[in-house]
Formats: sequence, C-alpha cells, structure tokens
Amino acid sequence: MKIEYIYATGDRVWSDPQGRWLFAQPCCDHGLAIEEYDLTLLPEQPIRLVVMPEAELRDQASGLQLRQLLSRTDEAQFPLLSRAAQVVTWSGHHRFCSRCGDALVHHDHDLAKQCNGCGLTQYPRLSPCIITLVTRGEYCLLAHGIRFNEVRYSTLAGFIEAGESAEDALSREVREEVGVEVNNIRYHCSQSWPFPHSLMFGFFADYVSGEIVPEPEEIVDARWFHYTELDEAPIPPPFTIARQLIDAFHARCVKAD
Ligand SMILES: [Zn+2]
Repeated sequence: MKIEYIYATGDRVWSDPQGRWLFAQPCCDHGLAIEEYDLTLLPEQPIRLVVMPEAELRDQASGLQLRQLLSRTDEAQFPLLSRAAQVVTWSGHHRFCSRCGDALVHHDHDLAKQCNGCGLTQYPRLSPCIITLVTRGEYCLLAHGIRFNEVRYSTLAGFIEAGESAEDALSREVREEVGVEVNNIRYHCSQSWPFPHSLMFGFFADYVSGEIVPEPEEIVDARWFHYTELDEAPIPPPFTIARQLIDAFHARCVKAD
C-alpha cells in the first residue's frame, strides 16, 4: 500500500475507506487544533501526517491497537508508522513551553515546535534503550517480564541513563534484572519502537558469571533456553528486534551444528 497521508489524533489506528490510516489520542481532545507535519524521509515517498482530535474520528470503524498494526506491516511501512505514532504522541504532550509556559507553535523549517516567548525549540523526544540477548554457548537467556500480558520469554532491555554508554547500560541492566555478569558486547541492529518513543539498540553479550536471580519487581522468571527449544518457546513475534536477536542466534547455532 502506498501511503500518502496518515491521519492521526496516538495509540489506536483506523483505516478509512481510502485505505488511509487514522490515529486517535484522547489527550488531543482538549482544545488541540488540527496539526499537519511533513514526515518525508525519502524524496520519492512524500508523507504528511495530520493530527486531529479524537472526537473527529469517533464515528470510524473500531480500529486496531498500534501494536497489532505494526505486526502486520512490512519493513518499509514499520518505520513510517513508528515515526507517525511518535510524532502524534509528542505533539499531544508538548503543547506548552517547558521553560516559560507559552503556547508552542510549529518550527519554521524543522520537525519541531518553538516558543515565541523565550525561543526554546523542542524536538520529538527519543528515549535510547539497550536490548540484549545474553548467550552461553548453545544457550540463550530469556525472561518473562512482569508487565507482559501473556506467557512470553524475551530478551532483556532497559533505558540508557544520563551519563551512561550503551555498553554500561547493558551490563547494569543485566546485573539488575537477573544478577548475571556479561562481556564481549557486540552491536547487532536497532529499531524504532513507538511505545511511546524508544530507540532500541540491539546487542549480543556473552555470559561470564553468576546464577540467575530475577529482580522480583521486573522479572517473573528467567532461564536458559537451548537453541533447539526456541522453535517451541513462547518468544516475541517476528517484527520485534527481540525476535531478530533470537533468530540470529538460532541461525548461528544451526550453522555451527
Ligand atoms: Zn518559552
């Protein structure tokens, strides 16, 4: 499907009879005017985003959760929808200047908002995160997080804190969440993840020492999976970077077998 316009108000997505996507975000109902953003990344594929109050969309069909829609899109559309969803969320959450309180207006030429009162410019927020598959020979460490809605074992992940490198954050997160030490940290790939504005940096890391001790406020269970168990294990769906890390590890083990 060629996307020319994405109509948006956050986290629920509709398509209209012309096949255009519509987002709705409840907090946009409070006096927000219709806003338009140029999301074009490639000149041959111009995309504009229209952000509108949810009330304008209530008569549309029931809609999909953004996560459902992303699970059905291809590699070309995923970044566009992720970008659109993040700009919608940012737009709704940044209506006033955080320094002086004046209303923010569109930036003259950047994808940003500016304050005419004090001159502050605010860009869409990005939150860098690490996500890692810890491996030990033919085994990988997967965890069932406390916030998962279903039985699912996935890679470990967490936000990079102020002053940290991605590698430091990875070592800290793995230590905090499962009590294990790692080394030989290798970058694999990254993914924009619009829940609500994460940029996931995916790494492999080698187990060094420690017994698995799940952090009870974050992890329900964590354990080692042999690569031959992964076909049957409740792992994340293919569109996620967690799955890409798991699949790459699985392919490497199969090749070496
Ligand atoms: Zn200001």
